[in-house]
Amino acid sequence: MPRLGDDIDDYCSRCQRTTDHSVVVMSGEEVEKTRCRTCNYEHRFRKNKGGRKEMSAQEAFAKVLASVSGQMSEAPKTKKKP
Ligand SMILES: [Zn+2]
Repeated sequence: MPRLGDDIDDYCSRCQRTTDHSVVVMSGEEVEKTRCRTCNYEHRFRKNKGGRKEMSAQEAFAKVLASVSGQMSEAPKTKKKP
């Protein structure tokens, strides 16, 4: 079982790879937060699964849709001056 301050492998989204981490926050028996030993970035423990699960395909689609509809609503405002 991991303990506070223990070394643990996890995926770092800054380094964009799995690096050595230290456990900084525990939640019961689960690791809550880790700190990357390479860049000192503190983040939620990803269980070394990579960053892709953070955003599902549906969420990614909604984000794209929002940015597209945002551009659409701006379009009518740009009227040509006479
Ligand atoms: Zn890092």
